Amino acid sequence: MARTTRHDADLLVIGGGAAGLTAAAGAARLGARVVLAEREPALGGDCLHHGCVPSKTLLATARARQAMRRAAFFGLPAPELEPVDFAAVARRIREVQAVIQRHDAPERFASLGVDVRFGPARFCDEHTVDIGGRRVSAARILVATGSSPQLPPLPGLDSVPFLTNREVFSQDTLPASLLVLGGGPMACEMAQAFARLGTQVTMVLRGPRILPRDDADMAGVVHAALATDGVRVLAGATVKMLRQWRDADGEGVEADLEVPLGEGRGPLVVRAQRLLAALGRTPETAGLDLAAAGVATGKHGGIVVDGRMRTSQGHIFAAGDVTGDWQFTHAAGHEAGVVVANAVLRLSRKADYTRMPWCTFTDPELASVGCNERMAAERGLPVDVHVEPFSANDRALAEGAPEGRLKLVLRKGGGKVLGVQAVGPHAGEVLNEWVAVLGGGVRLSALAGAVHPYPTLGEISARAAGNVVSRVLFSGGVRRVLRLLFGYRG
Ligand SMILES: Cc1cc2nc3c(=O)[nH]c(=O)nc-3n(C[C@H](O)[C@H](O)[C@H](O)COP(=O)(O)OP(=O)(O)OC[C@H]3O[C@@H](n4cnc5c(N)ncnc54)[C@H](O)[C@@H]3O)c2cc1C
Repeated sequence: MARTTRHDADLLVIGGGAAGLTAAAGAARLGARVVLAEREPALGGDCLHHGCVPSKTLLATARARQAMRRAAFFGLPAPELEPVDFAAVARRIREVQAVIQRHDAPERFASLGVDVRFGPARFCDEHTVDIGGRRVSAARILVATGSSPQLPPLPGLDSVPFLTNREVFSQDTLPASLLVLGGGPMACEMAQAFARLGTQVTMVLRGPRILPRDDADMAGVVHAALATDGVRVLAGATVKMLRQWRDADGEGVEADLEVPLGEGRGPLVVRAQRLLAALGRTPETAGLDLAAAGVATGKHGGIVVDGRMRTSQGHIFAAGDVTGDWQFTHAAGHEAGVVVANAVLRLSRKADYTRMPWCTFTDPELASVGCNERMAAERGLPVDVHVEPFSANDRALAEGAPEGRLKLVLRKGGGKVLGVQAVGPHAGEVLNEWVAVLGGGVRLSALAGAVHPYPTLGEISARAAGNVVSRVLFSGGVRRVLRLLFGYRG
């Protein structure tokens, strides 16, 4: 680090979220002088304050409510269900956040040697950044400013009140009805959570189906679950106009829609007390003055990076949602690790997305790693598919959650696993074994032969592996050889 002493810092990190905190802690542990700039009054970023943590906490509450509703299914007397007090739900969300916030306390980062400064950061030139009125120069800079809700120019959206992920978790009361715009993970998770708490939910999506990144058959299982929970899904819909309504019953937002598919086909007016915009994410670069540092952005506003997370300025890096591609906390963490390796250790490490997993935390969950059938088709890759249903898993039956399946996407004829998807109970946890199997190059026969505790959901993985292996092993050829050797006639 000797060559960088003319600067105030070896590494200046802009943004104290998943990517920024990982990079700041990693660089400081290696002995670099690190300055971390965060414009909000607390560290943690979207994941802690407006994303993963509040959404998963809300989903847990909704799951508990659903279990109460299913009491009779489990042989229990049906309880009296009082209406949900959303203020109490929001309080629990804040309590969980407060516990996690301790891990992201500025004092903890200060104790690691990070100089934490609160205030908006803006580039003055390619080595100097203004943080809340004070200038800091750095040899290397990481931009990890995350993303904000994407708000496409839908007719009327600019003149109606709406919620985004920043407001939805802190409402005082449970909305009687909710119109959710979007069909991605956040839209599905919120639609299910609010429906289970007692809100009448309508999802409106432009695309032909929910969760377009996942295979249609797997997303179909989630769609069926949403429908069971009472969510009305209007796919392929065009929003013609959004407007406010107000009468003796209350107030809210009304949408004129054109729905070409399925239920609600034709022109339709949907009225709801609240509107939630869950239409994707836009990289957050506002106020950074990237031009002052000569940092280029791409088509969708994301900072353009190469495989080593370097921007158009070799000493300025970007990681996390601001690059616009893999907008997950674990992807931000992975990219931040690559930045530390390259910016601090001066290695030449590349980010690797081949086995980047993702999960939608609806009930059932839908989790995925590697290549799915949709990707294989896009790449013109011929594949075999093996499906294992949760209905054949004893634990899933005991839990009353037999819906869903595990799907292996295999190289055609060869049996090599290219990707795995799971939709079902705790699918995200089930997938973790496959993350290790694929990452560690574990043979399917080893997974099949590994003794799994009974009865666990994870047994589905060993069973799927076993069935693929035995399909090859007990093929006609092997049987013919055994017949010749031992005279078997079965
Ligand atoms: C509702 C919802 C649910 C989600 N659920 C999941 C999930 O279950 N699993 C998952 O993996 N991902 C989930 N995500 C995505 C996840 O939250 C993001 O991918 C992750 O937070 C990205 O980390 P980041 O460091 O890039 O950005 P962030 O965590 O947002 O951090 C960016 C930080 O930069 C700060 N900043 C911005 N501009 C400036 C500036 N000019 N100066 C100083 N500071 C600045 C911001 O205040 C923020 O603190 C969810 C997202 C949402 C919205």
